[in-house]
Amino acid sequence: MISRRGFARLLGRAGAGALASGSLASFAIAERAPRIVIVGGGAGGATVAHYLKLNAADLDVTLIEARQIYSSSFFSNLYLGGLRPLESFNHSYVALQRLGVKVVHDFATDVDAGRRTVKTRGGRTYGYERLVLSPGIAIQYDSIPGYSHEVARALPHAYTTNPAGTRNLKRQLQAMRDGGTVLIAAPDAPYRCPPAPYERACMIAHYLKTKKPKAKLILLDAKRSIVEQALFMEAFERHYKGIIEINLSTEIDDFGLLRVDPKSKEVLTKAGTRLKFDVANIIPAQRAGDIAGKAGCTDGDWCPIDPSSFASRTVKDVYVLGDAAIAAEMPKSAFSANSQAKVVAHDLLVHLVGKAPAPVSYRNTCWSLLAPEDGVKLGADYAPKAGKLEATGGFTSEPGESAELRRGTYLESLDWYERITADMFARIQRGAEAKRG
Ligand SMILES: Cc1cc2nc3c(=O)[nH]c(=O)nc-3n(C[C@H](O)[C@H](O)[C@H](O)COP(=O)(O)OP(=O)(O)OC[C@H]3O[C@@H](n4cnc5c(N)ncnc54)[C@H](O)[C@@H]3O)c2cc1C
Repeated sequence: MISRRGFARLLGRAGAGALASGSLASFAIAERAPRIVIVGGGAGGATVAHYLKLNAADLDVTLIEARQIYSSSFFSNLYLGGLRPLESFNHSYVALQRLGVKVVHDFATDVDAGRRTVKTRGGRTYGYERLVLSPGIAIQYDSIPGYSHEVARALPHAYTTNPAGTRNLKRQLQAMRDGGTVLIAAPDAPYRCPPAPYERACMIAHYLKTKKPKAKLILLDAKRSIVEQALFMEAFERHYKGIIEINLSTEIDDFGLLRVDPKSKEVLTKAGTRLKFDVANIIPAQRAGDIAGKAGCTDGDWCPIDPSSFASRTVKDVYVLGDAAIAAEMPKSAFSANSQAKVVAHDLLVHLVGKAPAPVSYRNTCWSLLAPEDGVKLGADYAPKAGKLEATGGFTSEPGESAELRRGTYLESLDWYERITADMFARIQRGAEAKRG
């Protein structure tokens, strides 16, 4: 049972000025603490859980996450490049549990928005007053004829938080003969992390350069231009000349895939090009994680949201954030999801106590590693404007930067990785508690 004192504390801590002169809303006289259910314990969902409990200890927060250990997709390209072990991207939910988050390792299979319940594969039903969905992406296997969930075992996409796909791709690269051909097929936008396929091309090319110098990498792209094109083209030329061949689509030639054949190890592009490969990393089109559709939050492949809160535009009392949401210009990235999560936590708390939310803004930075210690970045701030999210400022690395500057950008990215994962999984809080003794 939540006390008035508990809510008074929530009022005081939940959002600075926005809550300062507030009166308690309906939940303050409720028989029990409001139940918040979060589905997906990744960059978006874990951060929401952390910030809710940090600011309102009395809240009943349940985090439903399928995996015991979160293996971050972000930075996994460094493993493919041979620069870090895959295990170094593993994170547990222990600190969130210590904070009082009820972490349930189960798979959410259905949402009944009328009854406000979430069902899981394990047979449990969780009631909620507010639901937060941050399930990341689902792979659209049928977007490429010949590709399927089964074929992905032979031709991995390695694009989700399931580390088996990334490990499989690395093993195939290790087993490939020197002189073999690696193929990466990049999807059309929107998809998770715009620079990731090109950072991956750099990291795989680095592996080939150091371990299989006669091998080559062919990049097929459904798009006509790519993010940070000048930077990636410069890196391909400077570090991987003779190794990487990139095929961008043009008005005439579409290098999206028409078909893949895992038996003959061949792809056919829409431009009519037929290519043999030894190892293929097929990255198909994506959509919001399936639970978002089950909850009624999707319009097409993704979820429309109110950009000032990430509240679902289609289902009441539900928030959708991270890759699953339509955040307009804001890229689908861990940085974005973490930034959105803090707005969701704030909005949820102020509405529970009947207050107006503070004006919001968001931030994103995407770092990419081109070669060891050669890092670049692209970022911007975002704010809601006329029902959409618009970039309010931006910055990007430039071609021709000094090795020293690039090394600094790489070190900055390492620091970011440590900070964001500590922030997601409440390790910052644990550290602060340890210091307090
Ligand atoms: C190769 C690669 C490199 C990347 N590099 C970067 C980078 O450098 N910087 C950056 O900012 N971003 C990067 N990203 C993107 C980043 O990983 C995602 O944008 C980010 O993880 C999205 O957060 P999310 O919360 O939406 O989803 P996720 O972090 O994927 O979390 C979703 C979670 O939900 C769980 N889940 C899904 N459905 C259910 C269900 N029904 N029941 C229970 N649990 C469920 C999943 O197990 C998962 O843990 C990269 C991505 C890739 C693939």
